[in-house]
Order: sequence, then structure tokens, then C-alpha cells
Amino acid sequence: MSVLPPGSTIGILGGGQLGRMLAMAAARLGLKCHIYSDTSGPAFDVAAKSTVGAYEDLAAVRRFAEGVDVVTYEFENVPCETARAAEAVTPVRPGVKALEVAQDRLVEKQFIAALGIPVAPFADIDSDASLASAAATLGLPAILKTRRLGYDGKGQVRLASTTGLTTARSEIHGAPAILEGMVGFEIEISVLVVRGIDGEMCFYDVPHNTHAHGILDTSSVPAPISACARARAEEMAGRIAAALGYVGVLAVEMFYCGETAPEPLIINEIAPRVHNSGHWTTDACAVSQFENHIRAVAGWPLGATTRHSDAVMTNLIGADVEAWQRLAAEPAAGLHLYGKHEPRPGRKMGHITRLKTKSQG
Ligand code: AMP
Repeated sequence: MSVLPPGSTIGILGGGQLGRMLAMAAARLGLKCHIYSDTSGPAFDVAAKSTVGAYEDLAAVRRFAEGVDVVTYEFENVPCETARAAEAVTPVRPGVKALEVAQDRLVEKQFIAALGIPVAPFADIDSDASLASAAATLGLPAILKTRRLGYDGKGQVRLASTTGLTTARSEIHGAPAILEGMVGFEIEISVLVVRGIDGEMCFYDVPHNTHAHGILDTSSVPAPISACARARAEEMAGRIAAALGYVGVLAVEMFYCGETAPEPLIINEIAPRVHNSGHWTTDACAVSQFENHIRAVAGWPLGATTRHSDAVMTNLIGADVEAWQRLAAEPAAGLHLYGKHEPRPGRKMGHITRLKTKSQG
């Protein structure tokens, strides 16, 4: 088991805000980061070194990997071939397996279900006939989701009645898909689990997540769920992390359906990386999700996930960021701006975490 001493370099595939916050956390521990991304992004401003290169340019990826001590990634759509090319040269943490599972909704659902963990009812859709028969079996309403490259509600069609069936597949350009039965949930939560190189795991408090226009709007801790539900959610997330042989922070998004539901917790999806619903940890915890991801991939002991305050993290999307002066003047709030120039609609520009005195254990 290799522990990277301070001064070592962590390679990060992806140059967005998650890479930026990872690089900032690494710097706190005396570790350097080298960012590799197909476009210059927010992480480039804060990293010791940055490279712009195509993810498909495997020779360039190998050169990048040769110059770093470990490679990690900050988005789940890193091509598996890219991660494999890096892995031939230096350790990649979390591994390629987590990417393979998270990139394909069908594989992801099958993987989680095979662990005996509840997921929404689903069917593989590759033709109009398979859609019609899945709609009859699962019932409507249901959601058609592309297997690959869907995020923030993109690549999804909600089917309320059979009249939508004829056009649904053309709306996703006939891409391979799954049909998912609707889950009647009370709230959405996520578990942020950190798994160390030795298999040790720790968990952050579970946030309650709300969405607006398909994009995460707020994450609040503590979520209004019982200690028993929280323990069960952690156990499920931990089982997934262990089955993936995971190293780093894994986010497991779940539907909470209420204590008396037949299945109180149903997994929606996993994100093999630090996650937007864990941004509050920077301001409300002893050690943030970003630092713990870095600690894990560098082979260090994991840091305390203890939460010292209640917190509500609100994303600043598009023009929200124009209120930065007012937001910066708020007491008891941590403001985080990603340094993006154009506040386009739907673009994550920053976030603010408002802290309150801790209400419960
Ligand atoms: P996803 O991209 O799969 O996370 O879906 C985006 C959002 O759609 C989720 O955060 C939920 O609010 C909602 N959603 C997705 N799948 C389902 C489902 N099977 N049942 C009910 N709501 C869902």
C-alpha cells in the first residue's frame, strides 16, 4: 500500500469546479495537482500544472499519467479507454470499474440490484416494441432515460400516457435506454461515503436534496429522516462502495419513501466522484469531501467527517451569481465562486453554504 508524501502530484482528469475544489483541498495538504482536460476550465486557475488535451489522445494521457503519482477523475464520463491508458502507467483511483458501472444506467441498475439493494423497477429499451411491452409491464407514468450521457435531467422523457410512446424514442434520438417506473418518494437524499485504500469507510451526514429545472438547487443537513433510515442508507452505500473496490468519495443518490413504505430507501444513481450534494462539507465539517477524496486516493488516513453546524447549500445557477456582493456580505455563510466568465442559464457558477447552530447529534 503506497502512501504519497506531501509534495507528490495528483493527476485529475477533468477541469471543472469539482477539480478546482479538489486541487484547493490537495494544496492544503501540501500535495500538488496536475489537471488534464479537453478544455481550459475552473480547475486550471488553482492547479500547479494543467494540460489541455483530448481524452481520446491516449499517448497524451499516458504522458500525463507518467508525470503524476496517482490519477483520479472529477466527472463520470471520462472514457473508460482513457482511464485504462492512465492505469497502465500509474494507479487510477477510484478505478475503471466505477466508471463502467456509473456510465451506463442499465449496467448500474443491474449491478446495484445484484447486491440485493432496491432500485426503481426498470427495463432495457432498444426498440419501439420493447418500449411498448415495458410500458405495459411497469405501468405509466414512467421515465425513459438514455443509458449513457444523461445528467441533470437531460436525456429523459417522462411518459404520462400511452400517447407519448410513439414519439418518446425519437426524442432521445433512438439511443439505447431504460424505462424506469416512477418512485413515489417523500424526499431525495444522498449518501457521501469515503472509502480508503485499506477499505476503511466513513460517511458524511445525509443531505436532503431539492432540484429546480432538473438541476440540484439545495442540499440541507440534517435531512429529516430517522437515525434508523440513515444507518440503512449508509449500509447500502457502503455495500456499493465495497463491491466496486472503491477508493475516494462516492455519492449515492436515493429516494426516501417514508418509514412505512415497503422499501423506505431506493437507489436512484451513483456518482463516482465528489458531488454537488456534498459541497456543504467544506464549511460545515472538520474535513471536507474534497480533502477526504484527496486523502483516500493519496493513501492517507481518512479525515473526520464530523459536522459542526447545520447547513443549507444553495447552488448559484446562471444569473444568480450576479448577487455576489450581497451574498458575500451575509454573515455565517461560505461563498464559493468558480471563476467562470459567462453566467449562461443552467450553468453552475458557484454555491453558498449558510450555517446554523447544530440542532441534533
Ligand atoms: P436522474 O437524472 O436519474 O437523477 O433524474 C433526475 C430527477 O428526476 C431525480 O432527481 C428525480 O427527482 C427524478 N426522477 C428520476 N427517476 C425517477 C423515478 N424513477 N421516479 C421518480 N422520480 C424520478
